Amino acid sequence: MSRPLPWRELPPTAGLPLQWRDFFARTGRPAFEEGLARFLGVPSVQVECSGTSGLVIAFEALKRRSSRRTVVLPGYTCPLVPLAAARAGLQIKLCDTRPDRFDLDLNHLAAICDSETLCIVPTHLGGLVTALPGVLEIARRVGAAVIEDAAQALGARWKGRPVGTFGEIGIYSLACGKGLTLYEGGVLVAQDASLRTLLNEVGRQEAPFHRWMECKRFVELLGYRLFYNPLGLRLTYGLSLRRWLKRGDPVRAVGDRFDNEIPMHTVGAWRKTIGAAALMRLPSALAEQEERARRRVKALGKIAGIRVLDDLPESTGTWPFIMVLFDSDRACSRALSVLWSAGVGVTRLFVHALTGYPQLKGIVPNASLPHAESFASRCLTITNSPWLTEDEFHRIAEILVESVQAG
Ligand SMILES: *Cc1c(COP(=O)(O)O)cnc(C)c1O
Repeated sequence: MSRPLPWRELPPTAGLPLQWRDFFARTGRPAFEEGLARFLGVPSVQVECSGTSGLVIAFEALKRRSSRRTVVLPGYTCPLVPLAAARAGLQIKLCDTRPDRFDLDLNHLAAICDSETLCIVPTHLGGLVTALPGVLEIARRVGAAVIEDAAQALGARWKGRPVGTFGEIGIYSLACGKGLTLYEGGVLVAQDASLRTLLNEVGRQEAPFHRWMECKRFVELLGYRLFYNPLGLRLTYGLSLRRWLKRGDPVRAVGDRFDNEIPMHTVGAWRKTIGAAALMRLPSALAEQEERARRRVKALGKIAGIRVLDDLPESTGTWPFIMVLFDSDRACSRALSVLWSAGVGVTRLFVHALTGYPQLKGIVPNASLPHAESFASRCLTITNSPWLTEDEFHRIAEILVESVQAG
């Protein structure tokens, strides 16, 4: 696909852009934690330096209440999650996903949970709500906790209530590209007051103030203000994406490769003030996103040979991007060969199931995950950034049709 304008590069997700006045306006609005708690309808939230560090703190807190040491993760999720579990010294078990979805397969889940299971981590992906009832029930039956990984789903709802608030603990990511951002940041919520106290205590012990890291993150957030636009993204995202694709390294192209070292530190007051200002725009941005996604999901639904992942009953997603699942992995590869480097915000979410990353060998167990692997090889994502024009969207849809028809 020829790029309509050579300097234009769309982000793979609909991030919430910052404005200069977010950096300076300071008065007349609730503090960041207070604003987030109000947004989520919870008594309080705990802000940490990343979603991953939030997970480490959650695992450590649960460990203090129990002698169990196994965590159950979905086979298809962010590779940072098993790194957090390993950092907390937990044994990992992988649960396959439901066919053609990312939800935990309940039969497999029931089979691998036992009296050693400390917690299960159902995961909401791409702003879409994962099915919770069966997971909550199995967890109750075996006496395990549920940590809802809502890193990609701040603001998504099930039965009108924000996800992340159904399990014992919920985590959200404020990383660059996941919507509301502090460049890096994370949020923890917990239902139970004594667990909130424990999470606070663990957070204070595990994540000390770190002046240099805070300076670094502040400068990166400034960079986000400057470069998070179709011109700046060409330099900060597009160039390296295309370089890694050309070198045949899709894992690096999508940023699935991480440091094994997980930074753990506090988040500074200025970044929180900036977040509080941006948070005021989140509800209207999400409403707009949902409206646009609905229209586009409907259009894509008419294409044979693909299906679009949609909200489950009683669920409302946040739609940072649209997940498209092909019937065949060859058609998916064909579409990506045209679209991935075209600058229109089409990419893969996670390149592999967790068993497919060389970096995770020795961290995740060998497991048979046929559904997760099949999902990973047949799924691409289309940005739901407001910068994707109707023309660009229709051109993408045409290429999906051609990719399916090419046999
Ligand atoms: C991004 C992500 C995380 C980790 O969040 P960070 O803020 O990037 O550390 C955890 N789980 C999922 C599903 C994610 O997408």
